[in-house]
Amino acid sequence: MITAQKGTKDIFGQETAKWHFVEQAMREVFENANYTEIRTPIFEATELFARGVGDSTDIVNKEMYTFVQKERSLTLRPENTAGVVRAYIEHGMHRISPPVKLFYKGPMFRYERPQAGRQRQFHQVGVEVFGMENPSCDAEVISTAIAFLNKIGLNDLELEINSLGCEKCRSNFREKLKAAVKPMLENFCDDCKMRYEKNPLRMLDCKSPECQSYLATEAVRNVINSEFICEDCQAHFDKLKSYLDALNIKYTVNKLLVRGLDYYNRTVFEIKSNSLGSQNAVCGGGRYDTLVQTLGGVPTPAVGWAMGMERLMALIPDVNAKQLDAYIVCQDLNETLKVAKLLRENNIKTEFDMQGKNFSKGFEKALKSGANFAVILGEDEIKANKITVKNLQSKEQVTVDRDKVLDIFKN
Ligand code: ATP
Ligand code: MG
Repeated sequence: MITAQKGTKDIFGQETAKWHFVEQAMREVFENANYTEIRTPIFEATELFARGVGDSTDIVNKEMYTFVQKERSLTLRPENTAGVVRAYIEHGMHRISPPVKLFYKGPMFRYERPQAGRQRQFHQVGVEVFGMENPSCDAEVISTAIAFLNKIGLNDLELEINSLGCEKCRSNFREKLKAAVKPMLENFCDDCKMRYEKNPLRMLDCKSPECQSYLATEAVRNVINSEFICEDCQAHFDKLKSYLDALNIKYTVNKLLVRGLDYYNRTVFEIKSNSLGSQNAVCGGGRYDTLVQTLGGVPTPAVGWAMGMERLMALIPDVNAKQLDAYIVCQDLNETLKVAKLLRENNIKTEFDMQGKNFSKGFEKALKSGANFAVILGEDEIKANKITVKNLQSKEQVTVDRDKVLDIFKN
């Protein structure tokens, strides 16, 4: 038997209703906040991710599905910010009066160890907003994320924020951090040793408890807790906090929060749900004011976030699929097909007995189907051009002229 690949899942049956519910809520929230959808390809040039996500990240180093096709190196997208930025540049969207507000949803691919809340093909929904440096924009994307989570019934959330400063204040911080870590460097994991060279800030994000214990030593703590960001960056961060206060959005400042991607500057944030186990991060995002330029566009500030949809699905209760309105019981399949077509054209969810051989069996199927109404066309009805509609709960039934059948469903 050929089975689905490790870390991938089929979504069907009851589960699909949940996805539709979440997708519907998502569309409404984004529509009201004036975002438009962008759909970019599933695969891109490998170079886009190497440059756009950053070659000191786990994603680029270990997790990409890369293949060569006619001497071209291609990669299944591990995230979608790089792809959206590529599209922004390629279509000259900087000519649109800012902000340019985009959202996406779709499958992403990362070669990681599958476990609860962690798959190799998973889905993300995300937003990217281009052209706004003002921290009101950071507040807007955060508040849109929370509005969406609230809309699908998730209220027990924790928002963590931090500011990484700009390139100027960060280089200063980087050197101080390296100096503090250096005497203990031997004790850190191999990944952290590599990060020390390429992107020392990412050491703060290491999941290893050992590394975290070394980061907890006083010398390192003092650097982390220092007010290293410059005046402009501090003012930007303070403004963001005041906007969140105005919106009544609770947050904590987590100085260890750096996020997994190389391109972030200034604001970074994460939203956690308290009802999820170890993989409790449902949303991560931040500002990336240099990425558009890095990928060859005109300098454009930007901010965005992504959410893991499977993690959302794990948090919300089952959603019932819409039940059938009508089940047609009739032995004349010509008539059955015609009535089904008529009902469906009028938004009445309809199924019918496709055997049409035996009236009582057909009626049993109607009962089993969970439909609200059985639509019955026996020989007498067909002769008289009538139709009987039976309410399967109250057992009441009426027989009406065929052209009046829709009226019954209107009430
Ligand atoms: P984590 O620390 O959990 O690995 P990350 O920093 O790699 O997360 P991002 O790249 O910021 O995650 O992606 C945003 C969101 O996508 C995460 O918060 C999570 O909900 C989801 N996500 C990331 N990787 C996976 C995966 N392998 N399977 C399912 N969801 C994922
Ligand atoms: Mg990860």
